[in-house]
Amino acid sequence: MATETSGKTTEYEIPKTCKAGVVVNEGPNFHLEVEDVPVPEPGPNDVLIKLNATGICYSDIHYMLNDLPIPKMSVFGVRSPGHEGAGVIVKLGSHVKNWKVGDRAGIKPAYDACFNCELCWTGKETYCEESPQIGLQFPGSYQQYVLSPARYTSKIPEGVDDFTAGPIMCSGSTIYCSLKESGLKPGDWAVFPGAGGGVGHMGVQIAKAMGMRVVGVDGGDAKKELCLRLGCEAFVDFTKVESVADEVVKICDGKGAHGVFVTATSGGAYASAPMMCRISGRIMCIGLPPAGTAFAGADPLLMVGKNLHVIGTKVGSLLDTDKALEFAARGLLKPIYEVFPLAKMPEAVKKLQGGNVAGRLVVDFNS
Ligand SMILES: [Zn+2]
Ligand SMILES: [Zn+2]
Repeated sequence: MATETSGKTTEYEIPKTCKAGVVVNEGPNFHLEVEDVPVPEPGPNDVLIKLNATGICYSDIHYMLNDLPIPKMSVFGVRSPGHEGAGVIVKLGSHVKNWKVGDRAGIKPAYDACFNCELCWTGKETYCEESPQIGLQFPGSYQQYVLSPARYTSKIPEGVDDFTAGPIMCSGSTIYCSLKESGLKPGDWAVFPGAGGGVGHMGVQIAKAMGMRVVGVDGGDAKKELCLRLGCEAFVDFTKVESVADEVVKICDGKGAHGVFVTATSGGAYASAPMMCRISGRIMCIGLPPAGTAFAGADPLLMVGKNLHVIGTKVGSLLDTDKALEFAARGLLKPIYEVFPLAKMPEAVKKLQGGNVAGRLVVDFNS
């Protein structure tokens, strides 16, 4: 509990242990359990954050399934995934000057960076060799009390609640980064395969706010309703049409999209993206399919003939996260989410693993 002492310092009683969703039997048959784990002690340059909310991202499932060509969580001694948390700073490391106890703060996928290389100097710090992933190399936001390097912690602006901020830390900033790097301009057609999903539905809103003309591609009436409500001019239901690409081209002036933002993770979504593009179109790779199950690009004859660009972008940088939160503070980005109480975190993970979640699943640590 927070206590105001003579209006100056806010102090928090920090427990010895806290609740955490931990992976059991990491691999294809994993499951999640909620356990008590020790509350970590901040190093000199860290802050300790007490999270109120964490989003559940498909990357967490990848880490627990271990179906990406990267080392397992257990190699790093980590049992809790999660990288989209929001809460309040409850303790500062001895050298920390830029934060106060009581400040609102968020956890995003990249844990830190070196700040001493060309990538870090050019706003590409998420690609820095010294940029580890939280929830893989460090305990993630499925754990209520988490550490974060003070210099790489994100401030949550006023007017953005924790349930909104959590999912923006990963999905919102990731898709903002992709939209920025696509170079698309106001009035251009932006198509989102996976538009009703966690990342896609935020892309739809940011693209709309940037003045783009947005087409959603997804399956089912719930996703259709969501996409049209969030600003899609048109929706293509892949369960109902013979060729998604043909439909997209028809909608986009008969020429195709200026940019296709593949937030879906299926091989099919990646395979049809080049056919959706007009001349000089951009295929933006965002969704992470299991290793070896998808290919981004096309026959060189098509790539050459249409002057196509294939561009991959990872997660949002410090700046991207700040910008995405700003869209939310201005009321232009509202993540759609379903809240699960902490005890039902395993259920939330199962639900996302099963697919077909409209928007985001968020866990409330206080219920
Ligand atoms: Zn994520
Ligand atoms: Zn660096």
